[in-house]
Amino acid sequence: METFEFQAEVRQLLQLMIHSIYSTKDIFLRELISNSSDALDKLRIASFRDKDLEADLTDLHIEISADPQQRTLTVRDNGIGMSRDEVVELIGTIARSGTAELLKAVQDNTDVRALIGRFGVGFYSTFMVADRVTLITRKAGEPAGVRWESDGQGSYTIDTVDGLPLGTAVTLHLKPEDTQDNLHDYTSEFRIRETVKKYSDFISWPIRMSVKRDGDSGEASEVTETLNSMKALWARAPEEVKPEEYQELYRHLTHDWRAPLETVHMRGEGTFTFEAVLFLPAQAPADIFMRGSSSGIHLYVNRVFIMDDCDALMPSFLRFVKGVVDAGDLSLNVSREILQQDRQIKAMRRRLVRKVLASLGEMRAKDAERFAGFWSELGRVVKEGLVTDPDHRDPILDIASFASTHDSDSTTTLAEYVARMPEGQEKIYYLTGSSLPVLKQSPHLEGFVGKGYEVLLLCDPIDEMWVERSDFGGKQLQSIAKGQADLGTQSEIENQEVFTALVAWLSEQLADEVREVRLTSRLTESPACLVGEEFDITPMLQQYLRAAGQ
Ligand code: ADP
Ligand code: MG
Repeated sequence: METFEFQAEVRQLLQLMIHSIYSTKDIFLRELISNSSDALDKLRIASFRDKDLEADLTDLHIEISADPQQRTLTVRDNGIGMSRDEVVELIGTIARSGTAELLKAVQDNTDVRALIGRFGVGFYSTFMVADRVTLITRKAGEPAGVRWESDGQGSYTIDTVDGLPLGTAVTLHLKPEDTQDNLHDYTSEFRIRETVKKYSDFISWPIRMSVKRDGDSGEASEVTETLNSMKALWARAPEEVKPEEYQELYRHLTHDWRAPLETVHMRGEGTFTFEAVLFLPAQAPADIFMRGSSSGIHLYVNRVFIMDDCDALMPSFLRFVKGVVDAGDLSLNVSREILQQDRQIKAMRRRLVRKVLASLGEMRAKDAERFAGFWSELGRVVKEGLVTDPDHRDPILDIASFASTHDSDSTTTLAEYVARMPEGQEKIYYLTGSSLPVLKQSPHLEGFVGKGYEVLLLCDPIDEMWVERSDFGGKQLQSIAKGQADLGTQSEIENQEVFTALVAWLSEQLADEVREVRLTSRLTESPACLVGEEFDITPMLQQYLRAAGQ
């Protein structure tokens, strides 16, 4: 037997769990079931890939058993299991961003009690109700199994065990204080039944429990019952699904403790049928701008889980969309490479994208404030689509919202801008820069604002990439920091001859710095400003390209 110390962060988290006074401790069961469900999915897929893998797929299930005398509760699955290294790696350290986020909230002194119950803290949540936890597991293909045990106080032990069946069993030795009333006794059949129903009903594997029933002859007998309906939520009629049920699915998929900002439940009819439940997060995931940040679409075929992170179903500019897509008639034996080329997948993807963009448009129309929140979190990501997905340019431009000189408290769409354009204005004016405060002080704005022209203020790096030579509804987008955007003509400038000598002198002094010095009517207060040539790369785009390694 070997003893290991927990990683410092884990110790911190465990202390939090052990001393938790949060009332909904029952989430630990949801976490264990969620892990078991993942393990069953993984075993199915692994044996699909490797025909020789030791695996029995005939009766994959989750089993809960309770012992009121010993005060133990066990959740067992016959899924993929874990090797010794995996147990150390997965259970002894914190790899998940969600958990790291919780810890940060703790350090920031946020109200932790309010957080924990809503938080997917995973395996460690067992220490809210148990003073000792034992995990016994054997991985498919491994000869020996592993026994892990801890009291959550700083260290855990690891042992090798022979003769284990495949899969994982987690046994909780329940704390005494939870015995007091039936509500908190997690060994009670009623309590278990209720908790499974509440959090895990949609899980697509059977969750079984053996219960005592009085037979007709008066003798008690054991019968095995399945506690969950296993009804795939996406296959049900949207009006029959409760908001909490959507939220449980969202939690199961994302480990995000916040409620999703928007839920889209759709059915694709026609040549290819599919069902989908998609979620838009309330906040940008922490890794959204990291290389390799992938979409969170789980692909099912006829209720059978095929893969997570199915990038082929969602373009990169919607990579924050999470959810499930269940395709009616796709081969079960698909690989990621095949999917990228598949006609059916492409057709589904087009419909999913349109639906997501349409529901964002609806949100903007019906609940501008909620949309504004979304856009400030994820607008930058959506705008990438203007560069990468010309097919979806128009619906993106319909919802894209920008800061503007019209109203410093709210954003505008291009359509709203165009509707306000005064007689005689031909182009949509914009200015790009590194931040809103910088842009607002730009001398370039003076002449335009003075003349009553509105200017869009674009400060996301991606703006530089799409706005160049763009148009909207036949109106060209024009940078006010570049050549042609001079207001009025040179001849309109009064007393030109007075300045001739000054311009000549400045041209000479600045010969190495600038191409030309000229008079302008675009400024009203500042004495001078720098203007780029029509097709120059702006300073911000230069930075952007340099950062991208070009
Ligand atoms: P998460 O499920 O969010 O990754 P958890 O703390 O719940 O975090 O679990 C950590 C990891 O331990 C899982 O990702 C999984 O790899 C492994 N694990 C947990 N329970 C099981 C199980 N029953 N069977 C196989 N692996 C498991
Ligand atoms: Mg988990």
